[in-house]
Amino acid sequence: MEQELRELYQEVILDHNKSPRNFRAIEHPTNFAEGYNPLCGDNINIFLIVNDEGIIEDISFQGSGCAISKASASLMTSILKGKTIEEAENVFEKFHELVTDKLGDNPNIDDLGKLAVFAGVREFPARVKCASLAWHTMINALHNKKEKAVTE
Ligand code: ZN
Repeated sequence: MEQELRELYQEVILDHNKSPRNFRAIEHPTNFAEGYNPLCGDNINIFLIVNDEGIIEDISFQGSGCAISKASASLMTSILKGKTIEEAENVFEKFHELVTDKLGDNPNIDDLGKLAVFAGVREFPARVKCASLAWHTMINALHNKKEKAVTE
């Protein structure tokens, strides 16, 4: 990974860990799902309020986990607020391609914004599950699935 991206990775993970965004429960969510990553012990619950137009009006998370799982959930909630369900699914797909190394060595960083820092986890396969836990849980919540999302 290039030096610049590595530094940004450290910075973003530390920042979102120290002051996680949207780290709270929503009392009456329209969508909710629990996520669990047994490999690391990360537990992330996602709460959403989706309005009739399919726009994510509010999104939050709660739980406990490692720095990467928390930072990823924090960054995800701040990115997805105000987006439509379709847009959220598109961002998820891009994120997933990034961390599972399908975008090759030169991911289009401009396109991904701050999410690009998670390109760093490609070097650590076990960490991919930490980074993608919140995302899988969010997709499950959007589909209103009640079962736990277990990342694999
Ligand atoms: Zn983890």
